[in-house]
Amino acid sequence: MSLIVQKYGGTSVGSIERIKAVAERVAGTRKRGEQVAVVVSAMAGETNRLLKLATELSDSPNQRESDCLVATGEQVTSALLALRLEALGCPAVSFLGFQLRIATDSNHGRARIKSIESERARNELNKGRVVVVAGFQGVDSAGDITTLGRGASDLTAVALAAALKADACEIYTDVDGVYTADPNICPKARKLARISYDEMLEMAGLGAKVLQIRSVELAQRYGVPLVVRSSFNETEGTLVGKEDKSMEDVLVSGVTLDQNQSKVTIVGVEDAPGLAARIFGPIADAGIVVDMIIQNASEYGHTDMTFTVGRDDLRRALEVIERIAKEISASGVRHEDQVAKVSIVGLGMRTHAGVAARMFSVLAAERINIQMISTSEIKVSVVVDSKYGELAMRTLHDAFLENGAGAVRA
Ligand code: ADP
Ligand code: ASP
Ligand code: MG
Repeated sequence: MSLIVQKYGGTSVGSIERIKAVAERVAGTRKRGEQVAVVVSAMAGETNRLLKLATELSDSPNQRESDCLVATGEQVTSALLALRLEALGCPAVSFLGFQLRIATDSNHGRARIKSIESERARNELNKGRVVVVAGFQGVDSAGDITTLGRGASDLTAVALAAALKADACEIYTDVDGVYTADPNICPKARKLARISYDEMLEMAGLGAKVLQIRSVELAQRYGVPLVVRSSFNETEGTLVGKEDKSMEDVLVSGVTLDQNQSKVTIVGVEDAPGLAARIFGPIADAGIVVDMIIQNASEYGHTDMTFTVGRDDLRRALEVIERIAKEISASGVRHEDQVAKVSIVGLGMRTHAGVAARMFSVLAAERINIQMISTSEIKVSVVVDSKYGELAMRTLHDAFLENGAGAVRA
């Protein structure tokens, strides 16, 4: 008997009607003779609604209490789905993170999973029950509820699939699979039949929220193949898995847009050994992830440093940087929060030159100014003014991924 983990996202369980439809689907899989463990998100919009309630009562809500609050979103959907399955005659039992001992560290709001005790879930599966697990949440060593970061029900699903050694992990969402670009922004985007873990990791990290980045990382580490597909229809989805030879023939697999970026410049920094460490050490200590960093050529022994951080981290990053700027006698700090990062991703870039240059000329032809650039083996990213983000994405999609553009195959 094979074992499948199915994860249903917020829109897929966004109403009573949708929960009924998901229950039918799960019961159908069970009837075909497969064991099923289901991971659910909160109803669409619920996590945001709960977070907003907290900010109405406190300027900076205590993170332990905040986790206790937002975890309720998934508590509701897991119980509702289990009771609907029972009503359909399909035996089911729901579990919260602590009940399955999804053990995490104590970093509230972005906790990391350390282990899952899969025995209880396995026993229930062996009794013929469907196991319904609340996504996004775990428990720390003190017994407190933690959450794993936005979009992290995907991570719960992959971690559960790895712990249970499931045969498949299916991520059900509101689009038919992973597309060459966000289909809600780029109408010409095409669904990909397959994509490698490495490309999916880059895309997830660069703004394609169809899969949460750490879930892809974990899937790759444990060799869990992921299928992304729609909960609204029967269309075949996208397989995210190991790379094979033919994948390198594709120059660009996808274009991504991250509108949640901001840029900080620290001006007039002395160009001396150790200064970068003085600046970025405390930023890292504050748990802020810095993405691109540019240091200008120095003039008269001084230089400027610019870096990007997620917009949600901007306020905290500025607090740290303004303090450091004083300590190192920099002349000032500037910031801009209306910037976007647009990227192209593809395994073929490893072996083909000229892709970045082509990207820059495509953007130049649209008169889109590039503020920052960064590259890795399989991606090129640029920072542009937010208002040109969507245009840049569509233009790059036309140039690199439209049939007839001549660049899809290397
Ligand atoms: P869920 O609530 O099911 O977890 P998400 O909203 O997290 O769903 O992810 C699905 C959304 O991801 C889609 O509605 C789509 O707008 C967005 N998306 C961004 N980039 C892509 C892409 N390359 N392919 C498919 N969807 C994408
Ligand atoms: N409900 C959580 C969120 O909105 C987790 C998830 O949906 O994956 O971020
Ligand atoms: Mg999601």
